[in-house]
Amino acid sequence: MMQTPLLLTQMIERAEKYFPQKQVISRTESGIQRFTYKEWGQRTRRLASALTKLGMQEGDKIGTLAWNHHRHLEAYFAIPCSGAVLHTINIRLSPQHVSYIINNAEDQILLIDSDVVPLIEKIQHELNSVKAYIIMTDSDTLPETSLHPVYHYETLLKEGDPSFAFRDDLDENAPAGMCYTSATTGNPKGVVYSHRGTVLHSLSLGLTDTTGISERDVALPVVPMFHVNAWGLPFAAVWFGTTQVLPGPYFTPKILAELMESEKVTVSAGVPTIWLGLLNELESNTYDLSTVRYLLCGGSAAPRGMIKTFEQKYNIPFMHAYGMTETSPLAVVSVTKSYLETEDYEEQLNIKAKQGLLVPGLEMKIIGKDGEVKWDGQEMGELALRGPWIASEYYKDERTQDSFRDGWLYTGDVVTIDEEGYIKIVDRTKDLIKSGGEWISSVDIENALMAHEEIFEAAVVAVPHEQWQERPIACVVVKEQAKGKLDKQEIYEFLRPQFAKWWLPDDILFLDEIPKTSVGKFLKRALREQIQENMKEV
Ligand code: ADP
Repeated sequence: MMQTPLLLTQMIERAEKYFPQKQVISRTESGIQRFTYKEWGQRTRRLASALTKLGMQEGDKIGTLAWNHHRHLEAYFAIPCSGAVLHTINIRLSPQHVSYIINNAEDQILLIDSDVVPLIEKIQHELNSVKAYIIMTDSDTLPETSLHPVYHYETLLKEGDPSFAFRDDLDENAPAGMCYTSATTGNPKGVVYSHRGTVLHSLSLGLTDTTGISERDVALPVVPMFHVNAWGLPFAAVWFGTTQVLPGPYFTPKILAELMESEKVTVSAGVPTIWLGLLNELESNTYDLSTVRYLLCGGSAAPRGMIKTFEQKYNIPFMHAYGMTETSPLAVVSVTKSYLETEDYEEQLNIKAKQGLLVPGLEMKIIGKDGEVKWDGQEMGELALRGPWIASEYYKDERTQDSFRDGWLYTGDVVTIDEEGYIKIVDRTKDLIKSGGEWISSVDIENALMAHEEIFEAAVVAVPHEQWQERPIACVVVKEQAKGKLDKQEIYEFLRPQFAKWWLPDDILFLDEIPKTSVGKFLKRALREQIQENMKEV
């Protein structure tokens, strides 16, 4: 067979050639803007030529600090298709982490949304490698800024060449992108994506038995383009000619619901907290979301109760998936095998609530106390993965040796696998509650709590215990209408039939809000610290 390189260049060229009239719909600070793939392709080429004029060279890292919009999507292709490396930076991280990331990656140019400018001004003096700042804004003028040298994105584009030629001579193993994990502990860890890895990952998103993204879809990635490349959706969508709806800055559940309705969105993707917010909105206002084929949910476990409400009450199909920055991210998707389909919804839900089956193209093993675990849905072990879109190391980071061994990525996630091969994430190794030599899954208790009609959010964390080593404590946020009415006893009554006695939390705390990470996951470290602080005071 021929050995032709797999390059991102082929994706944008396909969109330009076959789908010039399909659209990128972008919500920006000034409203909704629409571009055909033809117009967007020309803008992307203008950007590539402008960056080249500014001195961008093969292998240079170019950072983006931006929301989901058309300009960010232009950078997604202009940079790698010119041989440079697209480095998407999480704008919700602390200034110290953003500074660490930019210096660790040695970014040469930064493309910044105007509302992120103050963050970069704060750390500008620490950024040794950055030679130019480009501000992305709808306004004709630049905001007042101390950044230097600074350029106006749209002015650069005007001066750029709309027929700039992309590189078709790149090595498919050359770096195309970079992303850092969102660092629940320590400094963020960098992952470098190759052209080949990204192309193969995009192909996997198009498989009918995974997410099946196609030309017919209207895709709305809610997951930020700085969080594992919006799970790869923007790449796949361009390649397949899929209409994309990019929700822009500061969206609310209401804005999302309106966009889904007005643009007739068919697939959308986000973390559970996004979907919990949307559910709340659907409970207060009516929308026609009948075009939605599925809501893709990953990043942390999708609560069973939430899946059920979407599917049963609102008739919106749900798809649960698992992955991480190191896995591009799609690794496991819950799709029901034909012969497991039944009329019994609760049985279907048992499958849907699991993270699912390994995506074709990847390999896995699950290592328990005594080697590989049995496929019995009971024995727990750490999930290890390998494959063409799984990272092989962290970028310039000693922690590589902790996670990458003998050609495998050790995910740090504890899982079980059932007779049919469906994987269930039990917990992250560091969040598992070790009680008297046994393990308690914080995720299982959280899911049970969030299935209670009057509970909005719940997180369960371990606290140190003299006799048992660790014990679970539950933190719950009660829905507005049940505030002050739902008490601990009722919650215990609700949990009791579902768990062994020793799994029940030692206490249930009522909070106004669960602290979240920069990508919307429950920030358990903060909860643990908060609870321990309170315990000291008592
Ligand atoms: P971070 O590690 O900073 O949270 P990632 O987005 O890379 O950033 O997170 C990957 C982790 O998220 C996985 O290792 C796993 O623990 C968790 N995760 C992802 N998807 C799911 C899911 N569907 N269910 C449970 N946990 C998940």
